[in-house]
Formats: sequence, C-alpha cells, structure tokens
Amino acid sequence: AKKLGRSRYRFFSEALEATARARLLLERHIRHALEQRIFEVFYQPMYSFSQGSFCRMEALIRWRQADGSLISPNEFIPVAENTGLIIPLGSHVLQRACLDALKLMRAGFTIPVSVNISAVQFREENFLEMVLGTLNESGLPAEMLELEITEGVLATDMAWTSKVLEELRANGIRVAIDDFGTGYSSLAYLKRLPIDVLKIDQGFVREMLSDKSDADIVHAIVRMGQALNLELVAEGVENEQQARKLMELGCDVLQGYLYARPSPFEELEELLQSQHVK
Ligand code: C2E
Ligand code: CA
Ligand code: CA
Ligand code: CA
Repeated sequence: AKKLGRSRYRFFSEALEATARARLLLERHIRHALEQRIFEVFYQPMYSFSQGSFCRMEALIRWRQADGSLISPNEFIPVAENTGLIIPLGSHVLQRACLDALKLMRAGFTIPVSVNISAVQFREENFLEMVLGTLNESGLPAEMLELEITEGVLATDMAWTSKVLEELRANGIRVAIDDFGTGYSSLAYLKRLPIDVLKIDQGFVREMLSDKSDADIVHAIVRMGQALNLELVAEGVENEQQARKLMELGCDVLQGYLYARPSPFEELEELLQSQHVK
C-alpha cells in the first residue's frame, strides 16, 4: 500500500510539474502577445425586441495563432489572472473597446459597449483610475460604456465593491452582472448596490426548453430583475424557440448565435450598416 501511495504521489507530482511547465510557457506567450499587440477584440451585438434593433455589443478578446486558429479565452484568461497579466490585458481590451465604440458612434450607430472585467482587475488598487483614465483618453461618453462583472465580485470585500460601483455609477458607467444565476448573489446585495443589468447565464437558456426547472429559474430571474428595476439580457440564444420563450417571460434583450456570432469590428460595422438600410 505504501509503495502504491508513493508511486501515485510521483504520478501526481509529475502531472503537476507538467501543468506548471505548460502554464509557464503559456504565461511567456501571453506576455509576448501583449508586447506585440497580437490580441484582438471581437464584438457580439445584443438585440432588443422592443426596439427591433441591436442595442449594445459585448467586447470579447481573441488570440490568433500564427496558423490563423484562435485560442479560447477560457484557456488563457485564467492564466492571465493567476499571473497578473490580466491587468495589462484588461486595459488593452477596454482601450480598444472604447475607441471602437466611438468609431461606431461617429458612423451614426450609438451602441454602448460592454467589457468583461475579471475579479482580479476589479480588486486592483488602480482599477477606477484605469477605467476613468482610459475612458477619458478615448473620448467615448461614459453612458456608452458598460462593465460586466461576475457575482463572485459582489460577495467579497463589500466595502471595496460598493465604493467602486458607486464611483462607476457617479461617473455614468453602467454595470452588468454576468453569468447571473451561477454564483451566490444575495438579494440584499443586488438591492443595495448600483447595478444596471442582469445577464442570465447561457446554461439556463440552453436547457430552458427541455428542462422545466431551468425555465422556472429564468422566469424567477426575470421577475426578480423587474422587481429590482434592472435590465435583463439573456445570453446564448441560439434558436427562435428560445427567443420566443424569453420574450414571453419578459426578457427584452437577447444575445447569441441566433442574432450574430462575435466578429471583428469591421464585420460588426457591416452588419449594422446592412440592418440600417433595411
Ligand atoms: P462570457 O463573458 O460569459 O461571454 C459569453 C461567451 O459565450 C463568449 O465566449 C461568446 O462567444 C459565447 N457565446 C455567445 N453567443 C453564444 C451562443 O449563442 N451559444 C454559445 N454556445 N456560446 C455563445 P468566448 O468569447 O469564448 O469567451 C469566454 C469567456 O471568456 C467569457 O464568457 C468571459 O468570461 C471571458 N472573456 C472573454 N473576453 C474577455 C475579456 O476581454 N476580459 C475578461 N476578463 N474575460 C473575457
Ligand atoms: Ca460577459
Ligand atoms: Ca456570460
Ligand atoms: Ca462566463
């Protein structure tokens, strides 16, 4: 038994070492890609039923490899968070997003941009200065910027969280809670904190038509959002049936492949232009 234990230990430690090496390599590649400005920002629009048009867009980071393939943010964002590289990476995305939203505005499309903010960024000392500085430098009006944070941010360091959120609100920047329903938001926080939008997690939307409890959860989130006077966005909407059901439940803003996939800025601009002509 002892022998088995030892070999098992060796197995785990080798596996860990391999993971550590892979992470170190990835860290080096991220750093290099940052220096070389290789990261791109894609945009996915959100559709408003009541307006009958796209009303906002989400900025999503993309990392293109030499062979043209893309690495999923789910793979490198966690490493960027663990190494602190998410700080420069996050500022880069914010800067790009502000400039692109301004470009669209000048082309006649007033579509606010929503930028994902990692908990690591949010808790960083200079976070507010970074956001306000980047926004000011870009020239984008504050109402045109929305930040997406996850529920985890709300549950930790309440004093800091409410200070940052109050400041963002005071400056006119909107805040959305991303992946809503997967974390542990308390109703008290939601009521007390200056939040503007709930984004219903795509997991619920995916199962909504096949699983009654997921449909019930979506319904409950919509009702709660309405009671708290929050705007609701459903993500991961892939088909008409989901869209119709969400509408019935009172969710007006929808995001997903049904409407558009995330795409480079130029393609989004073309999409908006073609929609405009119609
Ligand atoms: P998220 O913020 O929840 O973003 C939504 C994800 O769902 C995106 O994946 C988007 O491409 C995908 N998606 C959109 N519509 C559909 C649909 O109809 N069906 C399905 N199956 N998926 C859909 P993506 O771009 O791979 O990003 C994954 C995650 O990486 C994001 O999840 C976010 O947590 C993180 N991320 C992406 N960009 C950034 C960034 O600039 N900063 C930070 N901190 N995180 C980011
Ligand atoms: Ca998001
Ligand atoms: Ca999400
Ligand atoms: Ca997510």
